[in-house]
Amino acid sequence: MKHLYLFYIALSLLLIPLSVNAEVVRSIEFPVNGPNNFFSDFGAPRGGGTRKHLGNDIIAAKMTPVVSAVNGTVNFIISPEAAWGYEISIVDSEGYQYLYFHLNNDTPGTDDGKGGEMNAYASGLDRGQSVTRGQLLGWVGDSGNAENTVSHLHFEIHDPNRQAIDPYPSLIASTGVYRSSNAKLGITPDMRLQLERVVDGRPNDIFKTMLELGSSGEEVRQLQIVLKVLGLLQKENITGYFGPLTREAVIAFQKRQMIDPVGIVGPATREALNRGISSGVLLEYKSFYSEQEQRAILIQKLLAQIKILQDRIKAQTGIR
Ligand SMILES: [Zn+2]
Repeated sequence: MKHLYLFYIALSLLLIPLSVNAEVVRSIEFPVNGPNNFFSDFGAPRGGGTRKHLGNDIIAAKMTPVVSAVNGTVNFIISPEAAWGYEISIVDSEGYQYLYFHLNNDTPGTDDGKGGEMNAYASGLDRGQSVTRGQLLGWVGDSGNAENTVSHLHFEIHDPNRQAIDPYPSLIASTGVYRSSNAKLGITPDMRLQLERVVDGRPNDIFKTMLELGSSGEEVRQLQIVLKVLGLLQKENITGYFGPLTREAVIAFQKRQMIDPVGIVGPATREALNRGISSGVLLEYKSFYSEQEQRAILIQKLLAQIKILQDRIKAQTGIR
C-alpha cells in the first residue's frame, strides 16, 4: 500500500497549481429576488484602471429583495453607511464569504440618501447570527460610491483563502426564480457605461490625509466606521471628530496590523486601511472571531480543501 500513498502525494502536488486557476462554482440561491440583468464583469478595470472589479454587478430596481445565497453566518454589517455604501457579509460553513454591496440608502420612491438602515437591511440581522439560503438580507440600492449610477447589487464571493473569485459561473448555475436569463430586465448601453465608469465595490482611496487628535471631517468619520466594524469603537462615538477614544481605537488597530502604535493615521496606517478596504480582507471574520473560533474556521477550511483535492483525485484516477 505504501506506493499508493506516495502516488497520492505526488498527484496532490501536481494538482495544486491546477486548483488555483480552476473555475469555482458554488451552489447558491440567486441573490436578487426580482427582475434583473447582469453580465460577466469580474476583473473589469475600475477607478480609472487603479483596481479591478472584484465582483459581479446585478442590475435591478431599488428595493428589489436581496436574499442570502447560502446557509451561513453574518460576518459583518456595515453601519452607518460607509464610503462604499451599506454592505453585508455572510460566511458559509466551508469558509467561503458572500458580500452584498450598495444596499438601498433611499426613502422608497426617492433618491434622497436618507433611507437609513431600516431600508437597507432586513430587520434583526446582526453579526454572528445564522441565516438560511434564500433568507431576506435587505434591498437593492445605490448606496455609497454607486450613488450616481444605476441601482444594482455588487456581489462578491471570496474563497477560504480570502481571494475574490469570479461569481459569474455560480450565478449562472444558481437556483431561484429570477436566476440567469429568467425575468430579464433590459440593460441599456448607458447603464453598462455607468457601471464601468463610476462604480466599484470598494474604493482604494478613501484615506488621503494625515489624521490625528483634533482632526475632523468625512475622512475621520469613515475611519470611525471602519474602527466600529472592527469592534474597536462604539457606534455613538462615530462623530467625525478625532478625540481620545478614536486615538485609542487607532492604536489598537495599529497593534493588530503590526504598525508602530502612535495613534496617528500616517502613511503606513493609511495604506493598511485603503488596501484592506479595497481588497475586502480588512473587515473579514478575523476581526471579531475569537482565537478559538478562528482555529475552528481554519480547520474547516483545510478539511474543505482536502475534500476538494480528494474529489479531484477520485475524478481523475477512479481510485476510491
Ligand atoms: Zn460592482
